[in-house]
Formats: sequence, structure tokens, C-alpha cells
Amino acid sequence: MANQTLVLIKPDGLKKSLTGNVLTRLSETKLEIIGAKIARVSRKLATEHYRHMKDKPFFKELIKYIMGHYHKEKVMALVYWGEDAIKKVRKVCGSTNPEEADTVSIRGQYGRITTKGVYENVIHASANAKDAKREICLWFGPDELIADIYPTKVQNINKKTRIWAR
Ligand code: UDP
Ligand code: MG
Repeated sequence: MANQTLVLIKPDGLKKSLTGNVLTRLSETKLEIIGAKIARVSRKLATEHYRHMKDKPFFKELIKYIMGHYHKEKVMALVYWGEDAIKKVRKVCGSTNPEEADTVSIRGQYGRITTKGVYENVIHASANAKDAKREICLWFGPDELIADIYPTKVQNINKKTRIWAR
């Protein structure tokens, strides 16, 4: 079945100039990219993204890591779509712990464990369809994706928007 998944190239991946390497590895999956952007990660976004980890002893460090306190303060966010996208992307990423990950997986090749004990594992990928929906809707608006993957509604928001000055 075709599904979609959120991928983040985490701040350590950008800092280490691994964007190209990671995208090349992901292209092995032959999935389609339906959304992509460079994003700043606010504390609110970081906390929401990792809300399932909030009771972990390393939560504070994890939030700092994904916000880019230790590296470049940005992530690359992508949505991959296609047959078994969630499973295929998780496979090429490898296990969460970079030392246990398959050595030729992205995390096995490029990840490390910091002296503070955080797994700097270069990439995030949604674990299942429920997480994918929550995460994609958190990181992307419907107009930022080139496919209609979830239901949308139209709202008339009267707000000021910035446009290019000419
Ligand atoms: N993490 C960590 N130590 C752990 C478990 C997780 O530093 O013992 C970090 C790691 O960066 C991981 C993220 O927390 O990617 C989210 O953890 P999760 O269990 O959701 O793993 P994932 O889905 O990313 O493989
Ligand atoms: Mg996870």
C-alpha cells in the first residue's frame, strides 16, 4: 500500500554536509518526494515533535539537539510518498542507536553518540502511519505538498502576509 512519511535531516546532518549523501541513500527507495524545505525548529515545534519522549532523562538534550543548539540551527524536512514508504525509509535509516544500526544504513554510517549520551543519528523518519500523519501535519501545511494526502478544509483567514517588494 502507498503511504507517506516525514523525513528530517537533523542539524548534525546539515552541519556535517551530509544532505547530498542522505538524499542519495533515500533515492535507493525509489519513492517520490512530495514536499521539501529548510526549516528553523522552535522550542514549541521540537517539543511537539518529540512529545512521546518527554519523560526520558535525555529529553532536554534531545530538544537542544533537534533545535540545532550544537550544530546549524536548521533541519531539512521532506515528505516521501510511495509503496511502503514508511517501512522502506526506516530500513535505509537503520536502528535508532547509531552503534547498533546496520553499518551501511544512514545512521550506521554517519551517526554518533555524544558525550552527553544523545544519539545524534542524522535522520528522523516516521515510525508508523499514525505518527506520519501527526508529524507531516505538524511540519507542513497542505499547500506545501504537491499531493493531497490528508483531508483539508478552506478557512478564510484575514491576516497580513509578506510578499516580495518590487
Ligand atoms: N534518542 C536518544 N537516546 C535514546 C533513544 C532516542 O538520544 O536512548 C534520540 C534519537 O535521536 C532518536 C530520538 O531520540 O532518533 C527519538 O527516539 P525514538 O525512540 O522515537 O527513535 P527513532 O524513531 O528516531 O528511531
Ligand atoms: Mg520515533
